[in-house]
Amino acid sequence: MLIKTVKDVSVKGKKVFARVDFNVPLNENGEIIADVKIKAALPTIRYLLAEGASVILASHLGRPKGKIDEKLRLTPVAERLRELCGAEVIKADEVVGPQVEQLAANLQPGQILLLENVRFHPGEKANDPQLAKAYAQLAELFVSDAFGTAHRAHASNVGVAAFLPAVAGFLMEKEITALSRSLHNPQKPVVAIVGGSKITDKINVLNNFLTFADAILLGGGMANTFLRAKGYKMGKSLLEPDQVGQAKEIMEKAQVCGVNLCLPVDLTVATDLHDEKGAENVPAGAVPQDKMALDIGEKTRAVFAEQIKAAKTIVWNGPLGVFEVSAFAQGTIAVAKAVAAGDAFSIIGGGDVVAAVEQAGVSEQISHLSTGGGATLEFWEGKELPGIAVLQDKQGGKYANTIDCG
Ligand code: ADP
Ligand code: MG
Repeated sequence: MLIKTVKDVSVKGKKVFARVDFNVPLNENGEIIADVKIKAALPTIRYLLAEGASVILASHLGRPKGKIDEKLRLTPVAERLRELCGAEVIKADEVVGPQVEQLAANLQPGQILLLENVRFHPGEKANDPQLAKAYAQLAELFVSDAFGTAHRAHASNVGVAAFLPAVAGFLMEKEITALSRSLHNPQKPVVAIVGGSKITDKINVLNNFLTFADAILLGGGMANTFLRAKGYKMGKSLLEPDQVGQAKEIMEKAQVCGVNLCLPVDLTVATDLHDEKGAENVPAGAVPQDKMALDIGEKTRAVFAEQIKAAKTIVWNGPLGVFEVSAFAQGTIAVAKAVAAGDAFSIIGGGDVVAAVEQAGVSEQISHLSTGGGATLEFWEGKELPGIAVLQDKQGGKYANTIDCG
């Protein structure tokens, strides 16, 4: 099933309400640290403008909790957007209301109107139909390009679709295409890499990967709980004692499903996160009592690289160590380089792991770096994402991304 996109409808002379993800990181002075998210939405915005549409953009920024927060206005975003796209950007000071209606009514083809942070309005997260209707009344077409918000059912990405024809923008299409390719009949062998700090965050993803992966490579804090489940002493390592049973269950399931579940065979340990000088490599069963495991070890990197080399499809979520500290980023970097060197179709998703791979300098050689954190995880869990479910397929029916993984 193919999703209907902006290319499948006529946009000339139309007012388009486009939900984008401009939730950019800001520093203490309210300046934008990284504009990747704004850049990611440009292909859709430029296309709509070039085809003669006037574009009303809506996005959230941070967590203002339904109230005006002066620090979270979209003013710096409007400025950066102006610089990047070269078009006229009119910035509204409100989410909806008479000012917005007036600005939208006067908007000309080729112009952009950026609404104020939609999460200033309490109806946004509540998916209030009145607010959704107010958005819809500004426009004739709804375009969704905010993949990063697709796992949430809010007024500007889900509610509005009840009142307007709804199609995907190019970023949304790219994410859905790439992520679907990793889940629907992926080319085998499929190697899944899962790291990050906690099992609790990743349990559903692990369970779904077990249904179609040939091998699962585990690292990060999460792997510590698995190693404990095998009976190893883990010293001061971060682990979740109440998830040891869950880890055992996953290991048993892997055996039943014939999935090669690879745990670290060695680890980089140190006294704490700041003890870079004390970093040393020890076998997985020999973590000293006063040390913590902060990265996968050297042998593990080689074992993982072998699996990765043989893979035709790679899905990766979560860094394999405390990548924020150089001495403990080496496992994640080595694995990122192995993925980059191989010829598998590779998708990496998750806020931290994407940052780690960018840090490793190999992002260009990855087939797809997902822009979604929570949304990507839920997609890989096999869930239907509400922000995708409201879009249409090319035949005009309801697009569904529910995945049958057998
Ligand atoms: P993602 O955002 O890619 O989904 P997570 O948010 O699940 O990843 O996990 C990232 C965090 O896990 C990072 O802050 C990293 O420092 C932490 N982490 C990874 N390995 C370890 C470890 N061995 N001990 C403690 N924390 C770890
Ligand atoms: Mg994270």
